[in-house]
Amino acid sequence: MKAAFMHELYADIILPVAVRGRFTYAVPAKLASVAAVGVRAMVQFGSKRLYSGIIAGLHDDKPELEKIREIVDISDPVPVVDKTQLSFWRWLADYYMCTEGEIMNAAVPAALFPEGSTLIPPVQRYKPREETFIELTNPFSEKDLNSLLDGLGKAPAQAQVLNTLLSLTAYEEGSDPAAVPKSLLLKESDSTPGAISALEKKGIIRQLSLSVGRLKSYESKAESLRRLSISQDTAFISVKKHFETKDTVLLHGVTSSGKTEIYIHLIEEQMKKGKQVLYMLPEIALTTQIILRLQKHFGSVTGVYHSRFNEQEKVEIWRRVAEKDPSRGYRLILGVRSSIFLPFTDLGLVIVDEEHDGSYKQQDPAPRYHARDSAIVLAGLHGSKTLLGSASPSIESYSNAVAGKYGLVKLTQRYGMINLPHIILANSREAYRKKLMVSHFTPELLNAIDGALGRNEQVMLFRNRRGFSPYIQCSECGWIPVCANCAVNLTYHKNPGRMVCHYCGYTSPIPTRCGNCGSTGLSTRGFGTEKIEDEIKIVFPGARVGRMDQDTTRGKNAFARLIKAFEEHQLDILIGTQMISKGLDFENLTVVGILDADSMLNFPDFRAHERSFQLMEQVSGRAGRRKKQGRVIIQTADPSNRIIRLVLNHDYEGLYKMQAADRQAFGYPPFLRMIKISLKHKDRSLLNTLADKLGDELRSYFGNRMLGPEYPVVSQIQTYYIKTIIIKAGKEKPLSKAKEKIREAITGLEKEKGSGGIRIAVDVDPF
Ligand code: ADP
Ligand code: ZN
Ligand code: ZN
Repeated sequence: MKAAFMHELYADIILPVAVRGRFTYAVPAKLASVAAVGVRAMVQFGSKRLYSGIIAGLHDDKPELEKIREIVDISDPVPVVDKTQLSFWRWLADYYMCTEGEIMNAAVPAALFPEGSTLIPPVQRYKPREETFIELTNPFSEKDLNSLLDGLGKAPAQAQVLNTLLSLTAYEEGSDPAAVPKSLLLKESDSTPGAISALEKKGIIRQLSLSVGRLKSYESKAESLRRLSISQDTAFISVKKHFETKDTVLLHGVTSSGKTEIYIHLIEEQMKKGKQVLYMLPEIALTTQIILRLQKHFGSVTGVYHSRFNEQEKVEIWRRVAEKDPSRGYRLILGVRSSIFLPFTDLGLVIVDEEHDGSYKQQDPAPRYHARDSAIVLAGLHGSKTLLGSASPSIESYSNAVAGKYGLVKLTQRYGMINLPHIILANSREAYRKKLMVSHFTPELLNAIDGALGRNEQVMLFRNRRGFSPYIQCSECGWIPVCANCAVNLTYHKNPGRMVCHYCGYTSPIPTRCGNCGSTGLSTRGFGTEKIEDEIKIVFPGARVGRMDQDTTRGKNAFARLIKAFEEHQLDILIGTQMISKGLDFENLTVVGILDADSMLNFPDFRAHERSFQLMEQVSGRAGRRKKQGRVIIQTADPSNRIIRLVLNHDYEGLYKMQAADRQAFGYPPFLRMIKISLKHKDRSLLNTLADKLGDELRSYFGNRMLGPEYPVVSQIQTYYIKTIIIKAGKEKPLSKAKEKIREAITGLEKEKGSGGIRIAVDVDPF
């Protein structure tokens, strides 16, 4: 029957394009039964291209368009996202001034959701992998089992398998027999498939095929929680008390005060309620250590999510998070910034550890979101709470806590009453002058390393710069090799012997002559982690040295390998960039060296002081966490620097007061909001003209709250020249007005003739 009285159905679809808005398509009658919110739909957009998008809404309001296209196909009626996620995307797109399509691209694993192409993309089907499991055929009684085992007296391999199965499943008389993966059983019982077949033939066990994740599952018996100390318990209760009246609580606890242990207790409560928990960390490196701590207690309901997983694995995690059956899904997700996009069904709590960390902010490409701030919104959409944790909170979060918007809970003691590390300032300028430096090491640092190695303890050396030398310079004329695409000095990497641009990845051979005067008098300047590694090996030839930075951790398991090697004391000294600064917990690490505090402090950014303090406090926090007080040697040319004085006394309050006063005086967040507009063009003079135009337009509205256009510190990247405009928006007016004005001005400029080739990016809260 032709659907004569059926009303027409329209779908608003999110497409993976950088055009704002949702796009309305008609739902053809043949697809009406499968069209639903959250379902993927294939549509034509533009002249030829077919795109796969997501239906965000269905309605019967005929749009006022001349021609309404129809949805081409819906190949899978199962929704990939739910309404909560769609609301979350909409909030993100509004707040961060990007399109919902950009959010969708960042959120949904590509394998689940093929991006548009000119051909109809075959919807890549995700195939669950089958795995063989073993279980007991019957709920045998204690007596049955004993006689079975007696009967296996002549077959020790079979007895071993049976015993291992019983212990892996923690079998108790009368309980339902649980299944364990065959591979695990073989490994744990150290026997052969033959023994398993034999037991199967005897009718004691059976094999069954179950679809499982491609990911490792961790089937070990849950260990009970550790008892909280009195101060931990007080903090734990106080967090919960605050949650009665506040949605967000900041846990400000010094390094090694046992914040993680408090998180674990909070997670346990949510698990008991059958809720999901999202536990966020800023760095993949951190997940490898914490995951073990979590799995000990929570077992296989614990999953990890980060960008190093391949697309198939991401789909697998996605499915497990969406799984409503608690026995098969993930209830606890440990993840980095992108984990806010996972399809949680029943989120009870979000924990953002190291909440001050800059890695929570995505810089490029869009969506340029802040995962901490977004997580708070996500929790709100689920009617749940957020706990922020840090030893040195961001000025933003702390000021929210001071203002009473967030609850504030403090832990001022390290667990086990161990003192905070003793900080020693080593004056590198003086040491250079007195010719006491050995390579880049002050006598104070060398002494401390020597002492630690002598006591068979471990050392960590921090330098926030990878590579060998930040640059090479001609000693005759001062020439420095720069990137062919960017206005950036090339960094000298000794292994492999190349000059590398840290902005675009461009590499070139190491020059043997000056590119300007032809002199061969080229010398390396400054030092990076690679050089430290070389030098420390010369000074301490007997020490086993490892290095952890972007160059040594490219593979998926590289972090885990290095951390394990350090944990198991196969390494005495670990050198690294900010990757080693946070969260890691090593029992035997007693000495930490910060090689060049000055380069952090002098970074041209309004957050440089806050960040330096946090970095130094974090790195210091790695030392002496278990048995005795650690020692931290900070090398600086300026020991009287006010930030260094604060680090010396672990004085966060002092830092907060100083920073808050500065930011209030100079008009920076959290007292004003910031929006950054970057314009890029290959043609420098066109860029100038267009940036000035946009600047004039915006100035007419924002007045002196608009700064620029200016060349940023790095004014050229990958053959594009860059100019930036900063808008400082007061808190007295809603930000939406300012955003509307910015959008209008940008659209106006893009429509103008001669504006082709310009690329404009907007970054809300660009820090
Ligand atoms: P933070 O997260 O504040 O840096 P952690 O939770 O990592 O601190 O705790 C620091 C160290 O103290 C860890 O080695 C941890 O295992 C130990 N620890 C903390 N709380 C307890 C507790 N209640 N019982 C036993 N050990 C604890
Ligand atoms: Zn020269
Ligand atoms: Zn470059």
